[in-house]
Amino acid sequence: MYDVIIVGGGASGLAAAIELGLESYDFNIAIIEKNEEPGRKIKATGNGRCNITNINAEGYNEIMAFFAGIGIVTRELDNGWVYPYSESAADVTVLLESRARELGIEIITGAEVVSVEKTKENTFEVKYSFKEGKSVYMDKVISNKLVLATGGKAGPTLGTTGDGYNMAKDLWHSIVTPVPVLTSIECLEWQSESVPDARILAGTRTRGNISLFKDKTGKFNENSKMFEEAGEIQFTKYGLSGICVFNMTRFMRYNKMLGETLGQFLIKADLFPDSNIENFLRERRKKALKGERISNVLCTVLKSGVAEYVMKYAKQQNIEKYGKTFPVDRPVSTLTDAEIELLSETVHTLTFHPTGIRGWKEAQVTGGGVSLDEVHEKTCESRICKGLYIVGELLDRDYPCGGFNLSNAWLTGILAAKDITGN
Ligand SMILES: Cc1cc2nc3c(=O)[nH]c(=O)nc-3n(C[C@H](O)[C@H](O)[C@H](O)COP(=O)(O)OP(=O)(O)OC[C@H]3O[C@@H](n4cnc5c(N)ncnc54)[C@H](O)[C@@H]3O)c2cc1C
Repeated sequence: MYDVIIVGGGASGLAAAIELGLESYDFNIAIIEKNEEPGRKIKATGNGRCNITNINAEGYNEIMAFFAGIGIVTRELDNGWVYPYSESAADVTVLLESRARELGIEIITGAEVVSVEKTKENTFEVKYSFKEGKSVYMDKVISNKLVLATGGKAGPTLGTTGDGYNMAKDLWHSIVTPVPVLTSIECLEWQSESVPDARILAGTRTRGNISLFKDKTGKFNENSKMFEEAGEIQFTKYGLSGICVFNMTRFMRYNKMLGETLGQFLIKADLFPDSNIENFLRERRKKALKGERISNVLCTVLKSGVAEYVMKYAKQQNIEKYGKTFPVDRPVSTLTDAEIELLSETVHTLTFHPTGIRGWKEAQVTGGGVSLDEVHEKTCESRICKGLYIVGELLDRDYPCGGFNLSNAWLTGILAAKDITGN
């Protein structure tokens, strides 16, 4: 019999356990974690550097106080993104686990919770399976309070396979359909029959502005723009990636059940957002050095692979729009006004048609989860089932890259613990 059982020893579960341990010495607390060690996902965060929080995250001060309390020194890098000073996600995980154990928290590892139930006595019965050799055994524990901290479905190899949704459902909660977010996008332009074939871009990274348009009728005008972000666009073997692209996927939800497809979205990249390339091309046309070719001029602004694709793209557009071919590798002084406009349009609004969003294995975060209407915002206690707390990514909350998702996990864990101990 425990005072509190926490299902899941990830970011939110460890934060809840430590805060509980700090605020109440006489509580009997256990974490049940399916992996052989807690915090496996924390170790993988921020490419092993752990982007622990963000100066603009909700609850930033509470989170920083929490980390100061357990001896994690942090520093702010890159626009408010906060990391442990050592830039080691492994160190953060070790410190969290050691602190929890030092506070007397029992951490039961290699134990997969298979069901949770509220008993007639208003306690929670938690059943879990564990392996010994080749045999699988079952055990159960009882607690007064239950914290569900199982995470979502993103990164399933790290233990998060969406188990918490059934647990929440069994305790009468509803689930907003989980979808993978903060992930890469597959595009039509990378398919073998595409002209030009965008696979020549694979492996190139370029800075630019990426925008997302949504319109079911296919009229993608300025009014249908729903997202825009500057950043590094990474071209992969199948489409687009990079932080700005990851953030864009949070806005690319569609309902397959209603017959919706990704066809209602269009992506445009501005590869020269700081200035107008049309003016630049006109100037080069006038002042071209002897032998200066269109490709030479574009390569002063774009990476060579991107410039090559832009020229092929403009050439294809010229054929489609005007039925004319467009010999691009020729002196810049011979460019016509129409060709300059076409090249400029291509550079500023290079268009991609999304055909797929990379799935759970590649996604960093889950969109959707336990409905927020059913959980008290300030305490994370269920509005439906007293004594039940739902924290972290299991909730229907997701944030852009930059330390915001871990912040949500730490903060909700801390808030639940404070409510349980009455502090
Ligand atoms: C590769 C990667 C990099 C990321 N980098 C960052 C970053 O730098 N900054 C940032 O803010 N966010 C980052 N995120 C997102 C962030 O890691 C998560 O949002 C955060 O860890 C969620 O915390 P959580 O406690 O809800 O779930 P998790 O940390 O995922 O923990 C859930 C735990 O529950 C356990 N569990 C699940 N089911 C059961 C069960 N049935 N029984 C027992 N245990 C169970 C799991 O094994 C897991 O240990 C990253 C995510 C990934 C995948």
